[in-house]
Amino acid sequence: MKDILDILDRHYGVHKEGFYHKEQWQLLAAIMLSAQSTDKQVDLVLPALYERFPTMTSVAEASQEEIESVIRSIGLYKNKAKNIKKCCQQILGQYDGQVPYNIEGLLTLAGVGRKTATLYLADAYGIPGVTVDTHVFRISKRLGWAKGNNPQTVEQELEKVLPMDHWNRINFQLIYHGRAICTARKAYCEKCPLEAFCPKEGL
Ligand code: SF4
Repeated sequence: MKDILDILDRHYGVHKEGFYHKEQWQLLAAIMLSAQSTDKQVDLVLPALYERFPTMTSVAEASQEEIESVIRSIGLYKNKAKNIKKCCQQILGQYDGQVPYNIEGLLTLAGVGRKTATLYLADAYGIPGVTVDTHVFRISKRLGWAKGNNPQTVEQELEKVLPMDHWNRINFQLIYHGRAICTARKAYCEKCPLEAFCPKEGL
């Protein structure tokens, strides 16, 4: 495992630039927007979003259509606009205007699942957590690190086998690797830097 982690660090880096934000609610909104969208797409809408809605109250009081009009280029924008508005209402009404700083609190917010909550805690406070998306799910099985049939089981398996200082970075490293080399359609093992150490489970 150490060989694989070292190669991933060398190829994909150990730190990923987080989304630009000045306030915690903006970071949470950016992470919500990034679900099933690229970071690049999110980076493009954030300046307009922050300018049009400078405070959490302005988001909470906006109509869903107004929010949609700013984030229209993002996948699932209707749903995301609805959730971001509701989320801001909940934070103002139930959390005194402070984004919850633990997973239990975050999970009570509209549209915030485990993955969004874990990413938020990692970016906002550096709290370690593994997030399992489709790439992490697929590749950790091919690498023989996990056998579970759902993201939550795989998350628990990964937290058992991975050193804690790799929990946050394994997510973006395997996403990059899954887009470029170990794709869902085909694993390009012949050009994979992990080839010598990978059992290629299930292939
Ligand atoms: S060797 Fe093949 S299966 Fe293993 S990580 Fe690389 S591309 Fe994926």
